[in-house]
Formats: sequence, structure tokens, C-alpha cells
Amino acid sequence: MFWNRKSKKHSQLVGGESTALIDLRGVSKAYKTDAGRFTALDGVTLQIGEGEFVSIVGKSGSGKTTLINMLTGIDRPTGGEIHVAGTAVHHLNESDTATWRGKNLGVVFQFFQLLPTLTVLENVMLPMGLCNMYTHQERIERARHLLDLVGLADEADKLPSRLSGGQQQRAAIARAMANDPPIIATDEPTGNLDSHTAESVMHLFESLVEQGKTVLMVTHDPDLAERAPRTITLAGGELLNEHLVKALPSLPHDLLLDATRRLETNQFAPGEMIIEHNAEPDKFYVVTKGDVDIYLPTPDGKELLIDSLGPGQFFGEIALVNGGLRTAQVRASHVNPVEVVALSKEVFLNILQASGETLNELVDIIALRNRQLSMVGSSR
Ligand code: ADP
Ligand code: MG
Repeated sequence: MFWNRKSKKHSQLVGGESTALIDLRGVSKAYKTDAGRFTALDGVTLQIGEGEFVSIVGKSGSGKTTLINMLTGIDRPTGGEIHVAGTAVHHLNESDTATWRGKNLGVVFQFFQLLPTLTVLENVMLPMGLCNMYTHQERIERARHLLDLVGLADEADKLPSRLSGGQQQRAAIARAMANDPPIIATDEPTGNLDSHTAESVMHLFESLVEQGKTVLMVTHDPDLAERAPRTITLAGGELLNEHLVKALPSLPHDLLLDATRRLETNQFAPGEMIIEHNAEPDKFYVVTKGDVDIYLPTPDGKELLIDSLGPGQFFGEIALVNGGLRTAQVRASHVNPVEVVALSKEVFLNILQASGETLNELVDIIALRNRQLSMVGSSR
């Protein structure tokens, strides 16, 4: 009953609004420093749905911790709106924030932050007391149960200092689960652990996701980040376009940021033409919603479907890189409307000039796609 998929309490908490479980709109944070105002987050707009497992990556200083602090209400934005589990977090006063956070969010930090003078069991009971949840007896039973789930049943009555780093982090995760919150937000939770211990902590997060929790995990470990189905990337306090990052993974973050700022977003109705055969190439496209179908025109004036591409996949690169006119036609699939983001030819070619690695990757993919095209072409 503690790790239930979706308790009634939570569906009420997140219900009532049509917004995502976590909804950030134009969130900015500027710190006052001796050198003046420093913008750590700049216009971050982001939606995360219930049950998602999202990793948050970016270089040191890119704003990851600031983002976690904003959406957990640990700190306040200087601009924009933050809605979490149906609550306008940016409007909460300090005392309401603490109670709200205690019920809705479990937060796990890099340095476990257990209270040294309380036993492990008492540490896990603490959030229940602070939020006045459960009776005293229930708190004890619940804390023991949670410690059992993270493999610490035998350590319950010890002080945190008697535990290894990995055990302390698992205790911190049990504490984060104390009030059965729908969201777990973690900032470099494995940053202070060896890889074997990090793995056991990762497993805990994955099992929380399986039980329907929404888990946000800041990490600088690309292998761990990749285990989340969705990765969001910060660069200089701004969000990179997720689909562009997927499409051009070896492009350096500063170039991705520049490209993100220059993207135009286009929508297409089901079946609508996006690229026409023999047209002058003018743009590079990345699918962001829905699917596009790639067709090769046949000599008898028909079309042959040769491929379908989904979010994070790109098209329109062949004629831009190789020169010449468009070889294939691209349409929105007949099932759903499609959204794409596009870069102009000029911006796209500049990017390739700046990143040889990205150019090489594209050349490989183009060779593969051209082989597909010629195979289809010769068999028709
Ligand atoms: P990350 O977690 O990605 O390493 P942070 O969110 O901690 O990045 O910090 C983003 C930027 O904001 C950094 O340049 C950092 O120096 C600055 N910063 C963070 N906290 C403060 C603060 N309290 N006062 C001034 N600058 C800060
Ligand atoms: Mg940080």
C-alpha cells in the first residue's frame, strides 16, 4: 500500500487542471552577485507528465540545481510561472511551501543530508511528522517498511554515520518516499557514490518509476542519463530543444543552444506535404510530434513509401549536404498531425562547418539512406 501506483489522494492533487504534472512557463532566475545580476535560468518552458522519468543534464554551472530548486520551491524564480501537481508554486509563501513540498515532492541530494543526531528510522519518520501525516505508530511502521524496501531493515536504529555512502543515500531515498509523494526530484544522487553503489541507487529510482512515480534526476553521467526515456539539457541557463539534441547528439552545447534559438516550429495536418520531390532544398527538419512518411516518386506518377520517422529523427539533410534538388517527398503521416522544427539552410550549413563530428555522423547516415533509396529505386 505504500508504493501504490496512483492513490486517490494523488489523483485529487494532480487533478482539476488540464496542465502537465510539472509545468514551467518562461521561468527565469537571476542571482544578485557582487558583480551585478547573474542570470542562472533564462526563460525555461517545460512540461513533464505524470509517471515520466526525466534526466536533466548540462555542464557544471548550466543551471541544473537552480532548476531543481525552482520546481521544488526550495528557491523562488525571478520571472515566470511554476505549476506542480496543480499548485502555483511561485505564489506559495514560505511556510506553505514547506508543507506543500513535504507532501508532493521527495527531494534527494548529492550529499544525503540526513540529520546526524537522529537514527536512520527517525530520519525517515521526520517528513511525516513535519507534514503531520499518519499516527505515530503508523509512522514507525511505514518508516520500517520503506527501509526494508531500500534494503536497510537492519540499519534502522543506527546513526547515519555508521552507514556507508550508498546506504545513506538509500536511507535518503526512503526519507524522500516518507509521505508517498507523486514526484521525486534528485540532484546528482549518485555523484558521491562509486559505480556499483550508484547502480543500486539507480535501480531504486527505476522501481519508483515502475510504480508510477514521476522521477527527475540531475546527473552528469551520460550512461545514467540515457536510462531515462527523456533527457532535458541545459546550457547557459537555457533549455536546448530536446529533439534537436537527439537528432544531432555530438553537436557541442553552445552550437545546440544557438541552433535552438534559431529554430522555427511548423505544424502540418495529417497527410500534408512537407517536402516536395525536385524542390530546391531550403531547410533541415527534425520531427518533434507525430510521424512523417518518406516517399519516392515512381515513373508512373505514384509514390512509394520507403520510411517513417518519429520524434528526434531528422530529414531534409541529403540535398543540403550533397547539393542538388530534393530526391524524396515527405508528408505528415495520415494518422496524426505533425510538428517539426526547422533550421534554415544557411544556419544548418554553418553548424556543419563548425562541428566536423556532426558532419561525419550525417555523412554516414546519408550514405545509409542513399543506399536505401537506390535499392528501392532499382527494384521498382
Ligand atoms: P549546475 O547545477 O548546473 O552546476 P547551478 O544551478 O548550481 O548549476 O548554477 C548555475 C549558475 O548560477 C552558476 O554559474 C552559479 O555560479 C550561479 N549561482 C548558483 N547559485 C547562486 C547564488 N546563490 N548566487 C549567485 N550565483 C549563483
Ligand atoms: Mg548542481
